[in-house]
Amino acid sequence: MDNTALRQLAQQHPSFYLYDQAAIVSAIATLKTNFPTVDFLYSAKTNPHDKVVETIATQGFGIDAASVAEVMLGVQNGVPKEKIQFSAPGKTMENLADTVDHAIIIADSFHELDQLHQLAQERNTVLNIGIRINPNFGFDGGASCSKFGIDQDQLFAQLPTLLQQEHLNIVGLHCHLRSQSLDVDLLHQYHKNLLALALEFQTALGHPLQFLNMGSGIGIPYGTTDTEVDVAALGAVTTAALTALQSALPQTKFYIETGRYVVGKAGVYVTRVLDKKVSHGTTMIILCNTLNGFIRPSIEQMVTGYTTQDSPHNSEPLFTSKGAFQFTALTDSITFETVTLMGNLCTAMDVMAKNLTLPTLEIGDSVMVNNAGSYAAVLSPVQFSSQQKPVELFLTSHGQILTPFH
Ligand SMILES: *Cc1c(COP(=O)(O)O)cnc(C)c1O
Repeated sequence: MDNTALRQLAQQHPSFYLYDQAAIVSAIATLKTNFPTVDFLYSAKTNPHDKVVETIATQGFGIDAASVAEVMLGVQNGVPKEKIQFSAPGKTMENLADTVDHAIIIADSFHELDQLHQLAQERNTVLNIGIRINPNFGFDGGASCSKFGIDQDQLFAQLPTLLQQEHLNIVGLHCHLRSQSLDVDLLHQYHKNLLALALEFQTALGHPLQFLNMGSGIGIPYGTTDTEVDVAALGAVTTAALTALQSALPQTKFYIETGRYVVGKAGVYVTRVLDKKVSHGTTMIILCNTLNGFIRPSIEQMVTGYTTQDSPHNSEPLFTSKGAFQFTALTDSITFETVTLMGNLCTAMDVMAKNLTLPTLEIGDSVMVNNAGSYAAVLSPVQFSSQQKPVELFLTSHGQILTPFH
């Protein structure tokens, strides 16, 4: 969407997100073309906007659900049970009972396996389930302690006992170690390690593995010096590795989960200039809903304020890297000014950017922030100080803007 159209929308909405359907569909096409033997699940926690989910489900993606509500989002969008996987730590008996008819449950612990067995017993049924594993390899190093899944050694040690539980049928394996990697070699090595593990797991199971969910990992460029993941190269090597194992894993469906790859770059955040002032020589632009509309730039300010490191390690989904967001002044101004962008909250922590040189902004203009499709609207503390929330707008492939009231 061009800046003129964004400026028109900014006249109506003091702060808003805009999600671009065509960009979502295009990212999905890239994945599908390059991973012809993989099925995809959309990690709904990244952006559960109804039109976003509908668009992605229409393209054939299943749902990676992290809560009961996300399972139901899949159901509402017509996603069949086999393509909704519910994986999260700490699922309660109630959570499991609410979702077991609508999703494939991925057990995250031995306690959860006990609960699932009990539930299946009560219902006098056999449940097909997956298990999340914490493997003996890391994404870029050795194994590490994790609150997610069951340690590989413990799982393999307990498997004979688990296989005797007649109400549970273990059909799948799930693993997710890293989000936001831009390194094709690491991503491919991760996929290869997982395939070897799947073979080993199938042998231990003694029956064909129905699915291997390889989690996420494929990142997007945030900073201006980041390079895009060569998805064609990754797709080629991973597809070759999967194909080579077709006879050894004859019934296995391979899944990749992704949130940000499909929507991260398909969203922008636009916020209006409410006030402007100079204090001790610094020109401050007061914007509408910063920390409480799109928190990630403010977190970046916090993290980089605490360290002198050039590249502080990432803490997804809150902090990616220094310079992860770019700011565009939506104005015709041809003069420039160095400013600090802050919000309208009663805290000084709502800083979006410091000492940034932009075209001169006046009250009533707006600022656009990119990379706002993922972990954006969902992460921001919108209840803080009871401000009006940003609205979420959706630009259809036909150029129509849908407001929340559609
Ligand atoms: C959040 C999450 C994802 C999605 O990660 P992205 O970086 O958005 O692709 C995938 N799998 C699991 C288990 C997750 O928790």
